[in-house]
Amino acid sequence: MPSNRLCQLTIRQAHELLKHREISSVELTRAALERIADVENRIHACLTIAEETALRQAKEADSHIRDGNIAPLTGIPALIKDVMCTKGIRTTCASKMLENFVPPYDARVIEKLKVQKAVILGKTNMDEFAMGSSNEHSAFFPTHNPWDLSCVPGGSSGGSAAGVAADEAIYALGSDTGGSIRLPAGFCNVVGLKPTYGRVSRFGLVAFASSLDQIGPLTKDVTDSAWVMNAIAGFDSRDSTSVPYPVPDYTGQLISGIKGMRIGIPKEYFVEGMQSEVREALGVAIRKLEELGAEIDWEVSLPHTKYALAAYYILAPSEASANLARYDGVKYGFSYPNANNVIQAIEKTRQFGFGPEVKRRIMLGTYALSAGYYDAYYVKAQKVRTLIKQEFDRVFERCDALVTPISPTAAFKIGEKVDDPLQMYLTDVCTLPINIAGIPAISIPAGFCNNLPIGMQIIGKPFSEEILLRIAFAYEQATDWHKRKPAITG
Ligand code: GLN
Repeated sequence: MPSNRLCQLTIRQAHELLKHREISSVELTRAALERIADVENRIHACLTIAEETALRQAKEADSHIRDGNIAPLTGIPALIKDVMCTKGIRTTCASKMLENFVPPYDARVIEKLKVQKAVILGKTNMDEFAMGSSNEHSAFFPTHNPWDLSCVPGGSSGGSAAGVAADEAIYALGSDTGGSIRLPAGFCNVVGLKPTYGRVSRFGLVAFASSLDQIGPLTKDVTDSAWVMNAIAGFDSRDSTSVPYPVPDYTGQLISGIKGMRIGIPKEYFVEGMQSEVREALGVAIRKLEELGAEIDWEVSLPHTKYALAAYYILAPSEASANLARYDGVKYGFSYPNANNVIQAIEKTRQFGFGPEVKRRIMLGTYALSAGYYDAYYVKAQKVRTLIKQEFDRVFERCDALVTPISPTAAFKIGEKVDDPLQMYLTDVCTLPINIAGIPAISIPAGFCNNLPIGMQIIGKPFSEEILLRIAFAYEQATDWHKRKPAITG
């Protein structure tokens, strides 16, 4: 099989070929590395390419397969967002602060991939410490959208989404605190799943906002999303928020169809200022779900949605300000070399180590948590959070799932919003309420506007990933959006 075809395979297709020994993992990994070498000068999805390690892992996978041992992800090359610790491979969080940090251990999700003998190609670009919606806040360089190189890929897992969309890897892992898996998935025409809070261990995930962070897959189709979830979900005693519920087989219900399912359309998510093509694409997608047998409930209302953005920008920066206090130049990471005393060492380390968006978040969070303001901001935001959660609980008494856009617009131009934090924050209005409520949601391809992808979000109650995958799968079977590939020219 020619190497450009190999890169386009899904996990399931690659697995079949590996199992029947029609291809080897080394061939597949080489094909991915060649593709990376080919397109990276335009996409810039990767911060580190671990060529040697990847080829070594591929050889090991091949010898496992020869011995008759093949797990679903064995020998299949993946890219990992650079916020997850990878033993022996530097993990930068796209920050000068961690530019040369090589973790001594693997994140739990990486251990799980390694148990299956998966291949890790490298680490992907992101907004610094996962703070952003466009990848422009990377301390190193922005990632470009494979569909239009002058556009952002979305953030903060933009490198992971762009890498999968450009066929640099068969799949990728990302993290999602306010939309960082789903938004780039939507902007790049791939499938991105944010699992329920507690479903996937965050051990070894560099913390941004600990009450919101989750890890999840970015894949070329819904089946692959289920396959990766099977590999990474489950309890971990080293993440105190991980939940000891049994992990279902996420592929189990994919073919069950959606006849009779009740899908709500919350009106607050079809916001003013929304791009008309996005509204139209969602309308068409919802009709398709209806044709497939779902009952559409147009009367769903989540009135507290309008407070979600404000609450998020108190809660997430507050947690970030506490989590990022550890970067003092003493234990690991960047350390300012010419300080006269310890206070100056810490100050200068943070002054030169962090970029402007990270500093903005630390200041916002420190302010919200400070004496005299704590009740007015942080406590109030927590109360809003409870209201938002309760509202979702009520809606899920009558709906199996909700459908919304991923973002009010398709991908925007590089440079368009980077100097206007409020406009950048508004990109996430449809995704952040989901993290605030701790519930799962998936982003799937649902149309195009001027050759730029439009994503649809399907939201579910806690631990209903199976239902989301089932709806997404039924829709994917009935449409061709996910099969379109970017031309990557220019
Ligand atoms: N864009 C949001 C933020 O900047 C969400 C980021 C994320 O999900 N990691 O905080």
